[in-house]
Amino acid sequence: MQRYFANVKDNIVYLKEDDIFHLTKVMRARINDRIEIVDENHCAYLAVITSISPLGIEIQEPILKNSELDSEVTLFFGLAKLDKIELVIQKATELGVKNIVLFQGKRSVVKFNETDFSRKLPRYNAIAKEASEQCHREYIPNIKFRKSLHEIKDDLCELNLFAYELDAGDTSSFSSLLEKHYNSISIIIGPEGGFDSSEAAFLKELGFNNVSLGKRILRCETAAIYALSVISFNLEK
Ligand code: SAM
Repeated sequence: MQRYFANVKDNIVYLKEDDIFHLTKVMRARINDRIEIVDENHCAYLAVITSISPLGIEIQEPILKNSELDSEVTLFFGLAKLDKIELVIQKATELGVKNIVLFQGKRSVVKFNETDFSRKLPRYNAIAKEASEQCHREYIPNIKFRKSLHEIKDDLCELNLFAYELDAGDTSSFSSLLEKHYNSISIIIGPEGGFDSSEAAFLKELGFNNVSLGKRILRCETAAIYALSVISFNLEK
């Protein structure tokens, strides 16, 4: 069943223009069709279409099942080639992250400034919204940009994990760190060029715990998906 994020007032549902088009023209919805709605308080409901033109949608009943992870997960992702960033936003959303923090790594091939980021943010938010609706989440991840690692202090979590390529090997530290429950967990993944020694030292100073993602050196987008799969698997087992 299709899910949409919408505003709900007095049991009446107000969809965004794009979603109205998607529901009426792409999905060719009809009266009495049912859809799922998530309101601005992240509560999910079953709703029914009461009219098509104009579109009328009414809330029927709450959906009690929650799709969110028990801990708030943050992905720090070093700026990489643009298609990789979009892929990682989509997959990280499906894997339950609450925050995606893109950062300018010293070895990032792509160089962003705030203006570049604000120009791309609407597309990134649309990718995250579509992925959240597709996997039936109640949240759409927040997407932020930090000009350097030195700016990520405010985004730190209770447990902060540093996937360092020079530690590639056994994954025991990764799994043992996840045995305890934390309200918030972050994982930082470097860009195509990885981390330089000063960045690694800085992350250690910030209290990040080094973890290996196995013996092979993964592409940054694979590393993000692998790490978030391990975290969400551990949170939902
Ligand atoms: N240029 C680096 C090199 O050749 O060693 C590789 C960087 S890798 C493409 C991008 C990021 O993925 C790394 O900075 C790290 O965060 C993560 N990564 C990839 N494989 C990893 C592994 N086996 N263990 C820990 N982190 C890994």
